[in-house]
Formats: sequence, C-alpha cells, structure tokens
Amino acid sequence: MQVLRDVALSELLWYRIGGTARYLLEARGRDDLCRAVEWVAAQRPDRVFVIGLGSNLVFPDGYFDGAVIRVVRDDGGSLCHLGDGRIEGYGGEVLDRVIRFAFDEGLVGLEWAGGLPGTLGAAVRGNVGAFGGEMTDCLESAEVVALGEPGDAVRTLSHADLAFAYRDSYVKRAGNLIVLSATLALEPADPARLASARETYEANVRYRHSRHPMELPNCGSVFKNIHRREQVERVLAVWPDIEERVRNDWHGKVSMGYIISRLGLAGYQVGRARVSEKHNNFIVNLGGARAADVRAIIARIQAAVEATFGFVPEVEIELID
Ligand SMILES: Cc1cc2nc3c(=O)[nH]c(=O)nc-3n(C[C@H](O)[C@H](O)[C@H](O)COP(=O)(O)OP(=O)(O)OC[C@H]3O[C@@H](n4cnc5c(N)ncnc54)[C@H](O)[C@@H]3O)c2cc1C
Repeated sequence: MQVLRDVALSELLWYRIGGTARYLLEARGRDDLCRAVEWVAAQRPDRVFVIGLGSNLVFPDGYFDGAVIRVVRDDGGSLCHLGDGRIEGYGGEVLDRVIRFAFDEGLVGLEWAGGLPGTLGAAVRGNVGAFGGEMTDCLESAEVVALGEPGDAVRTLSHADLAFAYRDSYVKRAGNLIVLSATLALEPADPARLASARETYEANVRYRHSRHPMELPNCGSVFKNIHRREQVERVLAVWPDIEERVRNDWHGKVSMGYIISRLGLAGYQVGRARVSEKHNNFIVNLGGARAADVRAIIARIQAAVEATFGFVPEVEIELID
C-alpha cells in the first residue's frame, strides 16, 4: 500500500474539484485496503475519507488535513466467477469492468448499470440504480472492513444484513465501513439473451452520452427530483399546467431539471462551474471550477426554489465540509 503526501485531489476525482490531501493511501487490492485500515488505526489522522472514482463527490477546495483512502482498481484483475452465476470482486473494481467481465462469463443482470460511473464498493454502499435496476437486485453479500474498530475488523454481511433501501444501505448508515469485496448473483444466459443484454448495456451507455453532459466533468444529478407529496403539491399549486407531465412523464415526481430550467437558471454560472444546458440538473466543471463555485450555484437554485414554492430541494450529491 502506497502512502503519498500532499496530493492534489482535483487530479484524482471525477469532478476535477478538490484541494490537497495530507495523505493519500492507495488501496489497489484487499491487502492494501487492510493495511490502509491498520495505518489509520496506528497513525490516527484527524480526518479519514474513503473515495472510489469520486463521481459523486464535491471535495472542499482547501487543505484536507487527514488521510484519503482511495479504493480503486480498474483492471478487472480481482474478478472471479465462483460458479452458478456468482461473481466476486474487490470493492475498488470499476463497475463497468464488472459488467463486461460478467458478459464474458455468459452472465446477465447488471446491464442496467451501463455507463454509470463508479466502483463496485461505492455502488453497494449507495445501492446505485438506473433504468429500473438497483444493486440490491443482484447483490448476494459483501465483505466490509471497519475503520476505527479494534481487532479483526473484516466481516461478511449478507443481503439481509445490508438492509438496502432507496440509494441507501447499512454500509452507508454505519458510516465507518469500507466495502472490501462484493459477491453478485447474476444469471447464466444463452447466446440470444446475452446478445440482448449487451444491446441493453450499449443503449444505456448511448442514452447517458446523449442526455448527460459526459463531455465535461460533473458529479451526476445534483438534486433529488421532488418526490414528497406535499412538495409536489406546492409545485403544482404554482404551476398547475404541469400536472399531466407529473403524472405521465415523471411518475408522480417533479423533475428538478425542469424546475431549474423554468426558473431561468439553465446556464447559470459561478466561476468555472455552470448549470449544464444539456441537462439542467447537472453542474459541469468548465475547467478550474472550485467547490465554492458549485456550492454557490446550489445555494442560488435552492433560494430560487424556496422563494417560489416554499421549500428547499434536497441535494443528491455528497458535499464534503
Ligand atoms: C454522469 C453521472 C451519472 C450518474 N448516474 C447515476 C445513476 O444513474 N444512478 C446512481 O445511483 N448514481 C449515479 N451517479 C452517481 C455515482 O455514479 C454513484 O454515486 C457511484 O456509486 C459513485 O461511485 P464512486 O466510486 O465514484 O464513489 P465516490 O464518489 O468516490 O464516493 C461516493 C461515496 O461512496 C463512499 N465509498 C467509495 N468507495 C467505497 C467503498 N469501497 N466502501 C464504502 N464506501 C465507499 C465514499 O466515501 C462516498 O461517501 C452518477 C454520477 C455521474 C457523474
């Protein structure tokens, strides 16, 4: 396990935003990760933060006086077909590698995640989902290692232990657990089904490239769509003309992209961060954006929504203090 000092996080994180970390612990496999946890127990840095690809994070601009553990391995080398459609892999494997490994082994069930950036471990933690699929649908168990717990800190959590909920899991709620490995239960498929799953995967990747501003660094959808009944009603009280879209197009929710656009904030820019015109619920980094720029845009959107409807929309990305 490599321990690097004074590392510019903006060079590592997907969003290309973030200051300098005092220590970066590179955990490219399970032994590395266990050593990183031991290092933290011995050195007791003031702060510890775990990152994967950083595709959902806005890291602060200043000095991070602590240790960042980077759980990333992107060569597919830890993946193993255990038989019966079960795949095991290190938590740092990039999800896309896992999907392609599964296809090569004749297995389907992960194609919904085509084009979704991130690592296997973060996907388990956040129960990521897209196009009707979610991690909980195919996750059998996960090995986790606990930061700051004495003794042998590795344990296996079953699907039931992981207690998945919408974009949530026991790992996320516990706060000090790192996903060391995960075992997925996928389905063996005949050639026709495999070909169809590959097509679905490709279509999902294409959809993301056509709808999302993938050409610029971003961190996914910034706000959750409005889903609480009373908030949907408040929006409809001000904009009754969108009732049909809420019912038919947005499954009872109100699209935050739509709200941002209708409030005139598409293209709103602070510093080098800008509300994407391609998808208004994304804030892109035009190059050299700072966390403070992104936060200022978020605050502006929240203020406009509050002034119009009387509530503050919830942020979906992780803003680190
Ligand atoms: C263009 C774009 C589209 C996206 N679309 C979707 C989508 O459709 N659906 C969806 O659900 N998400 C989506 N996201 C969000 C993102 O892909 C997920 O949150 C993903 O799981 C983040 O993975 P990561 O490796 O980048 O994690 P990071 O962003 O590095 O970290 C996210 C969180 O996971 C924790 N973490 C990282 N690794 C581990 C580990 N091994 N063990 C425990 N905790 C860990 C971190 O501490 C942090 O709290 C999108 C993001 C982008 C940029």
